[in-house]
Amino acid sequence: MKVGIVGSGFVGSAAAYAMALTGAVREVVLVDLDESLARAHAEDILHATPFAHPVWVRAGGYPELAGARVVVLAAGVAQRPGETRLQLLDRNAQVFAQIVPRVLQVAPEAILLVATNPVDVMTQVAYRLSGLPPGRVVGSGTILDTARFRALLAEHLRVAPQSVHAYVVGEHGDSEVLLFSGAQVGGVPLLAFAEARGTPLTPEDLRRIDEGVRRAAYRIIAGKGATYYGIGAGLARLVRAILTDEKGVYTVSVFTPGVEGVGEVALSLPRILGAEGVEATVYPSLDEGERQALRRSAEILKEAASSLGF
Ligand code: ADP
Repeated sequence: MKVGIVGSGFVGSAAAYAMALTGAVREVVLVDLDESLARAHAEDILHATPFAHPVWVRAGGYPELAGARVVVLAAGVAQRPGETRLQLLDRNAQVFAQIVPRVLQVAPEAILLVATNPVDVMTQVAYRLSGLPPGRVVGSGTILDTARFRALLAEHLRVAPQSVHAYVVGEHGDSEVLLFSGAQVGGVPLLAFAEARGTPLTPEDLRRIDEGVRRAAYRIIAGKGATYYGIGAGLARLVRAILTDEKGVYTVSVFTPGVEGVGEVALSLPRILGAEGVEATVYPSLDEGERQALRRSAEILKEAASSLGF
């Protein structure tokens, strides 16, 4: 199955590399304004495939996206140190206005998988520009934040992260909401499990974990200027879920009619992902603090999208 990637910079190329290593797809086409960059990444990644899976990786123009089941949108301008995701908005919305119509012209059946930051607003921009049903325009949202949350809890509790069921919802960014109240391990509420395991979670532990999740991107950007391996692997995972009609639950971002009293905003909630994109939303149980925080997060995103006319 063919997957297109428009924007073959750090994130787009890392996604292509992850797809090549995991064998989630048969063919990957890299498109970029900088054609020599796309060609170089395609050639380099193709050379990894004899060590991994027979994935045909090549660079191309928009016509080569014909027949793609998923097109990853990773084009845009890179986040600068200290720049918030929302400040990237203006510059990246203009890039999407060029790209989205060109992708849909050649691949009208594709699911659009948005990775460009600020990802929630860019998902809303892509949704509006595309005219597609909301579930067909899927943002990577808080998939990484959820992964970091599960990993940090797992480390504290000394259990496998796969056994920790905990979600980060709302904005992929500063206002994101870690849902401690509904987190469970083996069907047992988080705090009770932690007590029983002999690794109680103190208020200080909860703060440390919250900080560890919320500030991760800032730490990585301060150290090396960009984040891409984690999100690249996450995008490959979402592509696999779509191509296999997996119906797994992921905290992806899609345009949502209403959330906590805020209408028409793209943000992350646990969603069921399959061949048609997002099939349904699993609305999580929230305590009062989480409910208020999710409303604030939705309001921030709504305002950012509205200020652009999306
Ligand atoms: P990131 O870290 O988000 O991947 P990069 O700057 O490395 O950021 O990658 C973004 C890529 O998007 C760049 O390679 C850039 O050339 C590409 N790009 C920017 N505008 C367009 C466009 N209109 N069409 C296709 N690619 C674009």
